[in-house]
Amino acid sequence: MGLNSGLTEEQITLRETVRRFAEEVIRPKVKELDEKEEFSYDITRQMAEMGFLGAFLPEEYGGSSLDYVSYIIVVEELARIDGSQAATVAAHNSLGIGPLYYFGNSEQKKKYLPELASGKLWGFGLTEPEAGSDAGNTKTKAVRDGNDWILNGSKIFITNASTDITLGSTILAVTGEKEGGKKEFTCFLVENGTKGYTAKKMTGKMMWRSSNTSELVLEDCRVPSENILGKVGDGFKQMLATLDNGRLSIAAMGLGLAQGAFDYALKYSKERKTFGHPISTYQINAFKLADVDMGIELARNYLYEICRRLDRGEKITKESAICKLYCSELAHMAANHCVQLLGGYGLMKEYDAERYYRDQKLLEIGEGTSEIQRLVISRAIGCYDV
Ligand SMILES: Cc1cc2nc3c(=O)[nH]c(=O)nc-3n(C[C@H](O)[C@H](O)[C@H](O)COP(=O)(O)OP(=O)(O)OC[C@H]3O[C@@H](n4cnc5c(N)ncnc54)[C@H](O)[C@@H]3O)c2cc1C
Repeated sequence: MGLNSGLTEEQITLRETVRRFAEEVIRPKVKELDEKEEFSYDITRQMAEMGFLGAFLPEEYGGSSLDYVSYIIVVEELARIDGSQAATVAAHNSLGIGPLYYFGNSEQKKKYLPELASGKLWGFGLTEPEAGSDAGNTKTKAVRDGNDWILNGSKIFITNASTDITLGSTILAVTGEKEGGKKEFTCFLVENGTKGYTAKKMTGKMMWRSSNTSELVLEDCRVPSENILGKVGDGFKQMLATLDNGRLSIAAMGLGLAQGAFDYALKYSKERKTFGHPISTYQINAFKLADVDMGIELARNYLYEICRRLDRGEKITKESAICKLYCSELAHMAANHCVQLLGGYGLMKEYDAERYYRDQKLLEIGEGTSEIQRLVISRAIGCYDV
C-alpha cells in the first residue's frame, strides 16, 4: 500500500503536478494570507489555469474531464498545504458546479459552466441562521409573480459567494406546501448583482481564513423562472444529492490535512532531540505517528474506492458519510498529535502545526457535522426501523 497504490499513471502524474503547484505557488503565501484573512485572486486564477476549477466537468464546457478519484487527489494535495485553497476548489466544484451540471438544463449549463470552469466562482446557498443541520427549517421563501419569482430571506456561511469573481449562487427556498403539509423546496440560480440580492464577506474565522465565506440577504429579489434549477419542488432532493458528493471532497480535505500534519510531525520528530535522542524514538511518540499513518492508509483506500463507485453511478449516501466522518476525525487526530509532538513550538503561528490544528476543526462541522454523519450512517443501517 502507499500514496499511489491502485492509481493509474495519469492519476500519479496528476498528484505530482498538483503537489508541485501547491509547494511552489501556495506554500510561500499560506502564512501571510492566513494572517491577513485574505482571499487570493492570484492563486485562484492560477488554480483555474491548472484546470482545478472545472475539475470533473466535460471538455465541452471547458472542464478538465477528470474522473472522481482524480478530482479528489487535486483537493487532497491542495489541503496538504492549505485548507483554504482546497476549500475554494472543493466548494466550487462539488457545491457550486455540481448542482448546475447534474440538474441544470442545457441553456443554464451553456450560460454558466464555461465561465465557472475558467475562473469564475459559484456558491451553494443552503445554510440559514435557523437552518444548518435542520435544513428543513429553511425560512427563505420564493413567491411566484407572473414569469418571475420574488425571493426573501437570508443565508449564512456560504463559501465563495461574495468574491469579485463570483457569478452567483444556488439558493434553496420554500415555494409552497405539498400534500400533507410538508414544505415544497425549489432551487434558484441567483446571480451576483441582481437587485435585492446582497452577498457580504464574513470575517473573524478561526480556520480557512483565506477562503471566502459569505452572508447572503434576499430582499424582494426578483428572479426569472428560467433560473429555476430543474423543477419546482426538486430543491431539497438536489441539495441532499449534492451533499452526498460534496462530502467526499471534505473527506479529501481531511485526508490531505492529515497527510500534511503527519509529514510535518514525522520530519520534526526525527530531528528534535531530547535527552540525547530523537523524540521519534520514544515509543509513545512513535505510536502516535503509527496511528496516523494507519488512518491515512485506510482512509485513502476507502475514499478512492467510494469515488470509483460514484463514477460507476452507484448510490453512496452512507459511504460518503463514512468517508467524511472518518477523514475529518483522522485530521483532528493528526493535527492534535502534530501540535503535541512539536511541544511549545506547535502552539506558535510560525509553525504549520498551529494552522493545521485550526483548519481541521471545520471538517467536523461543515457539510453536515460529525453528529449528522453518524445519524446518516445509523439510519442507513436500519437502527431506527423498529
Ligand atoms: C467556513 C464555513 C463554510 C461553510 N460553507 C457552506 C456553504 O458553502 N454552503 C452552505 O449551505 N453551508 C455552508 N456552511 C454551513 C455548515 O454546513 C453548517 O454550519 C453546518 O451544517 C452546521 O449547521 P449549524 O452551524 O447551523 O449548526 P447546528 O445545526 O445548529 O448544530 C449545532 C450542534 O448541534 C448538533 N446537532 C444538531 N442537530 C442534531 C441532531 N439531530 N442530533 C445530534 N446533534 C445535533 C450539531 O452536530 C452541532 O454540534 C459552512 C460553514 C462554515 C463554518
